[in-house]
Amino acid sequence: MNIDLHDRLRGVAVGATIGDALGMPLEFGPAILPDRLLRTMQSGRLPAGAFTDDTEMALALAESLLAHDPLDPADLAQRFVAWYRAGPADIGGQTRLALRRIGCGEPWEAAVAAVQAENPLSAGNGSIMRCWPVALARWADLDRLLADSRLQSQVTHPHPECVAGCAFLNAAIYYLAHGVNPPQAVTQALAQADLPDKLRQVVTAAPHKRRAELPNSGWVRHTLESAVWGLLTTDSFEEALVQVVNLGNDADTAGAVVGALAGATYGLDGIPAAWRAAVHGEWPLRSGQRWDVTRLIALADRLTGSSTGAPELP
Ligand SMILES: [Mg+2]
Repeated sequence: MNIDLHDRLRGVAVGATIGDALGMPLEFGPAILPDRLLRTMQSGRLPAGAFTDDTEMALALAESLLAHDPLDPADLAQRFVAWYRAGPADIGGQTRLALRRIGCGEPWEAAVAAVQAENPLSAGNGSIMRCWPVALARWADLDRLLADSRLQSQVTHPHPECVAGCAFLNAAIYYLAHGVNPPQAVTQALAQADLPDKLRQVVTAAPHKRRAELPNSGWVRHTLESAVWGLLTTDSFEEALVQVVNLGNDADTAGAVVGALAGATYGLDGIPAAWRAAVHGEWPLRSGQRWDVTRLIALADRLTGSSTGAPELP
């Protein structure tokens, strides 16, 4: 693996987690006025710099990927259930309904099918927010990256837009990490991910939107719209995240998604040091183990298979 790719894949893990933490105090709030944008880690429902369910579920997925190759959706479902039982501070509605059923002994396929059948139009952002570990574990194999991105969504979010949204997001990370410029990476990811028409239109139009036109809700369409807008209308990691989390509403999840994209674009070295120093969380939940940027980097290296020795030079 060349050193730029290595740095960018580390940037995905750290970037997604920082976006989650930066957006945390703005979640459920209004959009912030352009001259008052939040640029530092602040406390909210959690202490300043703390990551939320977006990152916790990503860490569960990461550990499942490290334990099982190929990806085992039943194992992933059980790891999500263990997290749910530990009492996370935040959890999405669709995720909670699916995990409650799986935790009662239903096979994950039946549980998630029943939840989706009760609300067929439900297409939240709960699977795109956590899917980045697949992009790290499958960085060398685009076909497996696409398949496993879709499979990990199916465990809680089987709506076609959620499933395809994960494939799109991780394909974009793949191209960015391999050095493709952002507009081209989005175009190439669109060509790979087979998005339903409406979602494709939203993603394609995103860079032409104005701030005031971005609802940034928990709908997968709105989160991908905000994240692609943030990636394509800014030219640094910091500005991409600042612009997106200050849209308010589902700020932490949009922050996590644009953080993964921007991390793949600008690499670990492009991430502000103050944010790297502040980000933290507890994993596993209720274990007392504190996670910081060093552990996130070590996890990224394990996922990408470069945990031993220095990365090979190009
Ligand atoms: Mg969250």
